[in-house]
Amino acid sequence: MNSLEVIEQDAFISAATPLLKLITHITGLKTSFVTTIDWQAQQQTVVLAQNTGSLQVESGSQVAWTDSMCQLMLSEQLTATAEVQVRFPESGGALLGMQSFVVLPIKIADQMIGTLCGASDDKVELSNHQIESLSYIADALALQLKLMLDARNAEAKVDSLRDQIENLATLANTDPLTGLLNRRAFQHRYEFAIKLSRRNKQPLSVMMIDIDDFKQFNDEFGHETGDTIIKIVSDGLKHIARSTDIPCRVGGDEFILAALNTDSDGLKLLAERLSGYVKLHSNKLQRACSLSIGIACSRHGAPEELIRFADEALYMSKASGRDAISIYQPD
Ligand code: GH3
Ligand code: MG
Repeated sequence: MNSLEVIEQDAFISAATPLLKLITHITGLKTSFVTTIDWQAQQQTVVLAQNTGSLQVESGSQVAWTDSMCQLMLSEQLTATAEVQVRFPESGGALLGMQSFVVLPIKIADQMIGTLCGASDDKVELSNHQIESLSYIADALALQLKLMLDARNAEAKVDSLRDQIENLATLANTDPLTGLLNRRAFQHRYEFAIKLSRRNKQPLSVMMIDIDDFKQFNDEFGHETGDTIIKIVSDGLKHIARSTDIPCRVGGDEFILAALNTDSDGLKLLAERLSGYVKLHSNKLQRACSLSIGIACSRHGAPEELIRFADEALYMSKASGRDAISIYQPD
């Protein structure tokens, strides 16, 4: 609950509690309560109850509107009855032991947002004067009840907007096929990794990965099988990556992994494991796919240059005949 919702709920309870007591006082009914009705969900909820006898109506209890005592009464245009057991023997009220029931709609501009109710397990005949008094109490509660509902709705809307924003942010940062970070999000995370590596004086390494002869694989086995290979590479990357690593699908059949506190030898071990993983799983699917990988680490130059260096190393792997791992060699 947000603070506005809490404030409005407290305000409602402060306003309604003495009025519910007043109802039992002026009518002799043992229970009085206020409900709200969610018309969309067709559900009625007791928001506050005052029980002075053995009949217990619980705050927070809910009932489908079709099964509600209020609905039964209002559909027969009945405000009060001292014959619940006779008139509505199958009703929830009768099962609870009610004999008497009174219902006043709580309305805002002709829209019923809830009800004010009284009930008793004994026979209580209400005079017109008493019923009229209850209708004034229902009117007195209307605005406060609406404010509480509005605060709840506002909170629900804020929650839903927050979810939408989070979903959009995830969409904007994620490659839809693999769930990996996209290039944009990678760049953002990589800049942060550069700062961390500088501050902690730790090495930073990058590896660029490209599937070999992927165009041919697509032509041979179809684009969908090609997509499965891309997912296998992505699964392999997720498999080898530590929580501080940053794996990403740059686009097409190209991937990148940045690793903090790892040098090129450390990354070479990961690259070998990735190649093995992809060969094994692609072979199960169709035939073994190989990867060309290029690695660079902060020993080779400024972190801002590593992606370019890793790309050059990748080119060396391709040039050497593919299915290879190359570490950047400065001239
Ligand atoms: P090389 O060994 O030189 O990398 O050869 P290659 O055929 O893999 O060449 P390149 O990397 O340039 O080709 C990438 C291919 O990846 C071209 C394109 O058809 C395919 N591709 C790009 N995105 C997707 C995708 O999302 N799904 C599938 N199935 N194929 C894709
Ligand atoms: Mg390729």
